[in-house]
Amino acid sequence: MKIAIIGSGYVGLVTGACLADIGHDVTCIDIDEEKIAMLVSGQIPFYEPGLEALVMKTSAENTLKFSTDVATGVKGAEIIFIAVGTPPRRSDGHVDISAVYSAARQVSKSADKSALIVSKSTVPVGTSDEIERIIREESPHARVSIASNPEFLREGCAIADFQQPDRIIIGVAEDNARRVMSKLYQPLAAKGVPVLFTSRRDAELIKYAANAFLAVKITFINEIADLCEATGADVAFVSKGIGLDSRIGSKFLQAGPGFGGSCFPKDTTALVKTAQDFGRPLRLIETTVSVNDQRKRNMARKIIAACGGSVRKKTIAILGLTFKPNTDDLRGAPSLDIISALQDQGAIIQVFDPKGMDIAKTLLSDVTFSRDPYDAAHKADAVVIVTEWDIFCKMDLGKLRAAMSGDTLVDLRNIFSAADATRAGLQLTGLGRQIPLATAKATRVAA
Ligand code: NAD
Repeated sequence: MKIAIIGSGYVGLVTGACLADIGHDVTCIDIDEEKIAMLVSGQIPFYEPGLEALVMKTSAENTLKFSTDVATGVKGAEIIFIAVGTPPRRSDGHVDISAVYSAARQVSKSADKSALIVSKSTVPVGTSDEIERIIREESPHARVSIASNPEFLREGCAIADFQQPDRIIIGVAEDNARRVMSKLYQPLAAKGVPVLFTSRRDAELIKYAANAFLAVKITFINEIADLCEATGADVAFVSKGIGLDSRIGSKFLQAGPGFGGSCFPKDTTALVKTAQDFGRPLRLIETTVSVNDQRKRNMARKIIAACGGSVRKKTIAILGLTFKPNTDDLRGAPSLDIISALQDQGAIIQVFDPKGMDIAKTLLSDVTFSRDPYDAAHKADAVVIVTEWDIFCKMDLGKLRAAMSGDTLVDLRNIFSAADATRAGLQLTGLGRQIPLATAKATRVAA
């Protein structure tokens, strides 16, 4: 099938390359001329494992093409995906869907009269209806139909998520859209991937509800980790113990510095706003958002406490800047809040991230960018692990300690055990497991 994708970012490019790989004829379009020039010359504008090889392969086979021109890109396309960004609006936390509407207007002028326009961007419930209204207004005689096909891929494993998703959600308003989308995903459905057809509003809300549920789960275990610290329990065992219950499941139960990324923070906030607009406030999600925001600030306090109550003029090495491993995405990353809070308290910051350094250089000031984790730890009073990149999990703690001037290791991903740290001469602070039982009991009695 001939497919056009408006927006060639993490979602648009991955979707385009994967659809081209299953035999469709795809054109990825973007208004960012530099991005398209890079893609045309074989360079990938961001890091996603396996994507470069897939783009090379499908480009060589001529099933994946690139364009900056919507009019030529959408010509003859049976399906036109809108996969542009939907960032939070600075003024009120609502999602900014102006790029979606702008793409819809552009498409309405040049799409084939019977094209199916599919929103892949994460958009508030009712947006597909508005896209339809815009298109009918701009092009009253068009027979185009609109569908919603929210994306659930995770950065870092986006290609596998596209090729073997847990499910494909498609919101449609009429049979033709259903037929066209069934044909598109037939190669995946044939492999047993569940395809759920819903109304467009259902599909739009499923995306937000899924992300909100996962954000609640993360926040739940983070709060349980805090309780573990106060009571002398170990969150690793508590998490394992509850995760073995099949009704709960073990995923998303690892304590950490708070959720970040380009999706969870903005999608939870947007859902809260939508619910308020509809007069059905979601108290659980409102609390999740504020607990998570607070948690990032608390992480800086935890680091300061581990450094003896002050970080003024102390050198702190931050290992991991991206919001999760295997991506170069720093949007909403906890590292940014932690670094800025530590700098406010007078800390000198040295950082290292395997893939996020180039983007970090555009976002961080007054930090030293290092070559590797040991270089970042050079003469540092404390090392803080923020993101669980594999290279940090495999670090030689003895070598790390030898590079440092202090002996404080703050492990916000619970990679290392106290025994690992002690062997290397490091004082470890983790999450949900470090206060000895005797201290916890004393605290409780005193309280
Ligand atoms: P992104 O910022 O990486 O990419 C968006 C692209 O759209 C940019 O390259 C931008 O230049 C382009 N663009 C904007 N307006 C345009 C226009 N009028 N015409 C052509 N191109 C235009 O964003 P992303 O991370 O790919 O996210 C896209 C959407 O998918 C968002 O709604 C996001 O919430 C959702 N989503 C993202 C992820 C993820 O992990 N990144 C996962 C699921 C869903």
